[in-house]
Amino acid sequence: MIQTVGYSDIVSMRWCMMDELVEGGDCGRLAAMQHAALMLASEAGEVAGIVQKGYQAAPVPVGGEARPARDVLAGIDRAKLLDELGDVRFAMEIVMLAAGVTIDEIERRNVAKLSLRYPAGFDPERSKDRSQEPLLHSGSMVTA
Ligand SMILES: [Mg+2]
Repeated sequence: MIQTVGYSDIVSMRWCMMDELVEGGDCGRLAAMQHAALMLASEAGEVAGIVQKGYQAAPVPVGGEARPARDVLAGIDRAKLLDELGDVRFAMEIVMLAAGVTIDEIERRNVAKLSLRYPAGFDPERSKDRSQEPLLHSGSMVTA
């Protein structure tokens, strides 16, 4: 029988805190989640930095117009963007492992949230005031 290795398995093999996550009980799980959450924010910042470099590299038009999109896009390094998005995905996988959630669960919940928030498609007014927004079921991270 051929056994396939999924992304989660690959991440598990390379994450330095995996033993702590698996064997450390609630403390290990929380430590891994905190570490990975900070990593996720840091790596997302690196993605933003790559896009910012695209703006920075584009020539500024005389007269104050916006920088042409094509010039900005030309300054965004695709390979570096792929690398940093991969780092974001890696950190996200660790948070997911520590939280015990799957990408399918996240996607389903996100679709449900967006469907409630924007039943007729994106609405800038609804995006400003979420006080009337119905709540999805919430739950604790503590399991039996
Ligand atoms: Mg990185």
